Amino acid sequence: MTYVVTENCIRCKYTDCVEVCPVDCFHEGPNFLVIDPVECIDCSLCVAECPADAIYAADQLPPEQVHFLEINAELAQVWPVITETRLPLGEADVWVDRGEKLQYLER
Ligand code: SF4
Ligand code: SF4
Repeated sequence: MTYVVTENCIRCKYTDCVEVCPVDCFHEGPNFLVIDPVECIDCSLCVAECPADAIYAADQLPPEQVHFLEINAELAQVWPVITETRLPLGEADVWVDRGEKLQYLER
């Protein structure tokens, strides 16, 4: 199994999650983070750190977020690893919990 970053991270990218990951499996894109499913050891530490509640265990994904399993696996192959928290995107607090954000995902 793996953990998965879902839609609510898009355009927020608070990055609180990356500091706790013991195996550095978060990868960073322009306005979203993903988890490498091959590296993730299912420790669940990142879940509570996310202010956007965007991280789920793969077997507990809400039905409308299941496609993020594939998105995480795909983009973890091409985006660089991120291990330190950075400032969130400028309008993170405006975009959090907006929903329907997949259209804004920058690859
Ligand atoms: S803490 Fe949540 S919103 Fe922030 S980068 Fe991690 S998954 Fe995305
Ligand atoms: S569940 Fe653990 S290993 Fe997987 S991404 Fe989160 S902190 Fe990293």
